[in-house]
Amino acid sequence: MSAVQRKGVQALLELAPVVDELGARFAAAGHELALVGGPVRDILLGRGSKDLDFASSARPEAVEKLLAGWADHVWDIGKDFGTIGCRKGEWILEITTYRSESYDPTSRNPEVSYGDNLPDDLSRRDFAMNAMAVRLPSHEFVDPYGGLEDVAAKVIRTPGSPESSFSDDPLRMMRAARFAAQLGFTPDPAVVAAMTSMADRITIVSAERVRDELIKLVCAKYPRIGLDLLVSTGLADHVLPELPALRLERDEHHRHKDVYEHSLIVLEQAIELEPRLGGTEPDFISRFAALIHDIGKPKTRKFEDGGKVTFHHHDAVGAKLAKKRMKALRFSNEQIEQVGKLVELHLRFHGYGTGEWTDSAVRRYVRDAGDLLSRLHILTRADCTTRNKRKAEALRSAYDDLEERIARLREQEELDSIRPDLDGNQIMQILGIGPGREVGEAYKFLMELRMDEGPLDEDRAKEALLSWWNNRP
Ligand code: ATP
Ligand code: MG
Repeated sequence: MSAVQRKGVQALLELAPVVDELGARFAAAGHELALVGGPVRDILLGRGSKDLDFASSARPEAVEKLLAGWADHVWDIGKDFGTIGCRKGEWILEITTYRSESYDPTSRNPEVSYGDNLPDDLSRRDFAMNAMAVRLPSHEFVDPYGGLEDVAAKVIRTPGSPESSFSDDPLRMMRAARFAAQLGFTPDPAVVAAMTSMADRITIVSAERVRDELIKLVCAKYPRIGLDLLVSTGLADHVLPELPALRLERDEHHRHKDVYEHSLIVLEQAIELEPRLGGTEPDFISRFAALIHDIGKPKTRKFEDGGKVTFHHHDAVGAKLAKKRMKALRFSNEQIEQVGKLVELHLRFHGYGTGEWTDSAVRRYVRDAGDLLSRLHILTRADCTTRNKRKAEALRSAYDDLEERIARLREQEELDSIRPDLDGNQIMQILGIGPGREVGEAYKFLMELRMDEGPLDEDRAKEALLSWWNNRP
């Protein structure tokens, strides 16, 4: 047994109580059960997780019955797909009935039909490294396609020919890029060749499935590897065409940098700054905004006289493009708004110079960023890829300065819920008017005043309101 195998089996035995218990339960009822796919691969990689996937000869109804009375909680993940989920202590288990999918090459999603044996089930899986299983409770290791070798060599191969596999389900091309990004593995040359020649087939897959793989890829440990694969194979031309479009050729004076490479560095720098968000999970919004913050550049590029290149309004144009693409990929409205806003605001800081902003400008920055402020800090800091150390240091200290000013203002006033100093009732009373459009206008005036001046006491606010009222055109 190799060292990896030994380590794997050891890790498996640590799982043993929960896994063997379930195996015994299924066996007693005359059903097969095996640990399959991701968890087997991950155990061999020494990256255990609390999520376990199983395959079984039992049909979903029988699985549900076997889990009831054993698990703490049982739920139906998709009985039509044959998957039942449950929680047992700290473990989340998913049991899927053996499959023998039949694929209709014109349909968007696989159709499910049940199989009756493990080898057939494994033969329909995406990659050899995901087609390994451990039968329960015997612990027999089943690896028909050399997945263990692939894991040791860090390569991604399909069980059969990549062409027929990707023809059965083109999403597997995205999954190859995603696993490359998560595991740092290299797809076999035949896999890359098939991804390249079949890239356009991804268009028959539903946007939701593509989106979910894209999210996993971007949130992976090595997103650059996955993104480069999407771009070099041509898959990105179909799923995220704005990304390859960033590979702008240099102008004849070699004046401007390749925006694509810049974007990848900004993404990597944003990942390094992610701990600022206080969570432990990757933050898709922050990462995706970093990746596509400049997607307005190709469309807004102008060669000015004297060879200067400009990208005027690429922030606003980019925000629009980002939203349009995310909508096509069926992201939620919230995700679309968040990324759109970050792209739109990513240049705002550039007016800050060495601290020239008024308090008013700082308040507006905080208000416009809203609950995206921490992510905007990350994006703006990450968006500095100059090799000029002095320039980079100057930008960093200017941004430190801005964050300090925000903190100071926050101590003095309620920055996050800025409201005018007078409310609607007070406005009506002071002006002697009833509800209507004018109250709204007065409210807006007071809000702007509040932004410009900071908090005012009631008398001064009243004075300002009356003077505005009496001087209206
Ligand atoms: P993770 O859960 O960490 O994302 P995973 O390997 O468990 O990784 P899943 O998407 O959860 O990936 O899929 C579970 C298993 O189902 C895979 O390991 C693979 O064996 C199989 N599988 C999933 N999607 C496909 C597909 N499109 N085609 C073939 N097999 C698939
Ligand atoms: Mg999984």
